Amino acid sequence: MTTGDVDYYGLDELLAEDERMTRASVRSFVEREVLPVIERCHAEERFPTDLVPRMAELGVFGANLEGYGCAGLSNVAYGLIMQELEAGDSGLRSMASVQGSLAMYAIWRWGSEEQKRRWLPEMAAGRAIGCFGLTEPDHGSDPGAMETRARRDGAGWVLSGTKRWITNGSISDVAVVWAKDGETIRGFLVEKGTPGLSARDIKGKFSLRASITSELVLEDVRVPSSAILPEARGLGGPFSCLNQARYGIVWGAIGAARTCYLTALSYAKERTQFDRPLAGFQLVQAKLVHMVSEITKGQLLAWRLGRLKDAGTMRPEQVSLAKRNNVGVALEIARLARDVLGANGIVNEYPVIRHMLNLETVNTYEGTHDIHTLIVGRDITGLDAFGIG
Ligand SMILES: Cc1cc2nc3c(=O)[nH]c(=O)nc-3n(C[C@H](O)[C@H](O)[C@H](O)COP(=O)(O)OP(=O)(O)OC[C@H]3O[C@@H](n4cnc5c(N)ncnc54)[C@H](O)[C@@H]3O)c2cc1C
Repeated sequence: MTTGDVDYYGLDELLAEDERMTRASVRSFVEREVLPVIERCHAEERFPTDLVPRMAELGVFGANLEGYGCAGLSNVAYGLIMQELEAGDSGLRSMASVQGSLAMYAIWRWGSEEQKRRWLPEMAAGRAIGCFGLTEPDHGSDPGAMETRARRDGAGWVLSGTKRWITNGSISDVAVVWAKDGETIRGFLVEKGTPGLSARDIKGKFSLRASITSELVLEDVRVPSSAILPEARGLGGPFSCLNQARYGIVWGAIGAARTCYLTALSYAKERTQFDRPLAGFQLVQAKLVHMVSEITKGQLLAWRLGRLKDAGTMRPEQVSLAKRNNVGVALEIARLARDVLGANGIVNEYPVIRHMLNLETVNTYEGTHDIHTLIVGRDITGLDAFGIG
């Protein structure tokens, strides 16, 4: 038994009926359509693109956005969707996060009316895929130092630079590309097939193998003036999108942790050593208790953050605290579960090693664990330690 719920504190009572229903439908999708194929996708280093229309049907893409064909669900419902997807695989949740919280949100928040009408309904329906190009080969945690340039050229713009580690990159119909016009960071919508734009997949990943990660090269890519996100200026543009995606990760990571915990619990009850089930040893119980405690705390953190977001009072630093905590504990839980499974913990007969490897990426992207430490540290002390070792 590796699917199902962990609700040690009766947290279901905190959810509205429609939020529970949303969760149930996505959970059933994951159990029936994702789990049977995900190990193979992971082995073959490919994303199950045939699941995109089903995800769209379930309202997964841009679920918490209003209008333009989006589902307009509460942020808690959106979080529960991310949790169920990531209980299946972090790569699946990454695809949905990038589509909804990074690419669609960028257009929804910073785009022109024309851009919104053109892209959002298509993206919500899964007919168009988006990606978000912020990171560069030499600039990850410090995107303000990006080298990609945007220069005005007549009525349009010319973009040049390289973006790396871009989820959905090679399957995208539209790339949100962040580039510097002088010293100001601006966002551009670059359509697939635009001359000068090329995407190359990064192979050989040990983590997030069932997710597409690409390098985008922009060689004098000419885009019309209508391609610029008119409202976004400075790092606030991309950071506002990252904040949405990080929020989803807060929930998602607990989904991956839940799968690892349930697998370890079930395994420990069934496997016998020294004439008793592993679950009957104190040291094993200590590991299982640590897992369920951290999952329960993580669930509470996610739920409270969701209600703050629904109330419009959530602060980015609160998202940082929760992303840092929930991904950190999820990774720890995955490693503990891997340990409880012994040698069986390293094979793909069980989902644990896949989740463990995936969570290494989740710990790094959308702001590393340590970058979120610095964000919360600055918030509580008033002192910026970013440039200090
Ligand atoms: C599978 C995958 C998918 C991704 N998808 C996307 C995507 O869709 N779009 C996108 O734009 N990016 C994406 N990324 C990139 C991701 O956001 C970056 O990897 C992340 O921001 C970290 O940057 P970096 O890898 O360059 O590490 P670095 O910034 O080089 O950091 C390396 C280490 O140094 C530490 N460090 C950095 N600065 C400091 C400091 N000031 N103080 C203390 N420690 C510090 C970090 O915490 C980390 O431990 C993805 C990455 C992966 C692995």
